[in-house]
Amino acid sequence: MGYNVAVDGPAGAGKSTIAKLVAKEKGYIYVDTGAMYRALAIHFLKKGVAPEDTGAVIDACRDADVSIRYEGGVQNVYLNGENVTGMLRAEEVGNMASRTSAIPEVRAKLLELQRALARENDVIMDGRDIGTNILPDADVKIYLTASVQTRAKRRYDELKEKGGTCDLAQIEQDIRERDERDMNRETAPLKKAEDAVLVDSSDMTIEEVVAKICSCCR
Ligand code: C5P
Repeated sequence: MGYNVAVDGPAGAGKSTIAKLVAKEKGYIYVDTGAMYRALAIHFLKKGVAPEDTGAVIDACRDADVSIRYEGGVQNVYLNGENVTGMLRAEEVGNMASRTSAIPEVRAKLLELQRALARENDVIMDGRDIGTNILPDADVKIYLTASVQTRAKRRYDELKEKGGTCDLAQIEQDIRERDERDMNRETAPLKKAEDAVLVDSSDMTIEEVVAKICSCCR
């Protein structure tokens, strides 16, 4: 059994940025479970499946094989043998992932892959249901959050830096909708595990959040 750190929290809380830095400092493998939902979303988009057509989504799961390889310390995600890592962050992929991740069969498809990675490696794994559902016996559980305004502003700055045009009010609206879906779905909704440490990063620097999480780990 590996040493397991679970990090859950809403979209835009900074989970992946923070988890990558903690992984580096502590020598863990960083497992981004959102990327797995996004890889399945690419499969649904390629097949032209509508997210509200639950039957078609479940059907499409049958011929999707998602796997993970660590190359040069970086997580690469493969969909049916194709490296799709470069496509994962597209907005339409995130939207499809957010909708289809509510379907129990989609979650079941990825559960064993996530547990196997945690069994075999020392990991810091981020997602929505890691501490509550995937790794209920994780050595450390963190619930990382920040206000909607802070998360929207961070996302806005990130997109601006990439040279995109974006609208802060629209981003804030998208984040509210994503929170609503993640927190209110029936299967494995996003919530803080009882034994998770709550970290609100609204008024913290990245370094402060990393130090706080590292201080919880062995
Ligand atoms: O974290 P990220 O934005 O990459 O995740 C994409 C979508 O996948 C989220 O909106 C969320 O609905 C879903 N997800 C999930 N459970 C996880 C990780 C992600 O439901 N463990």
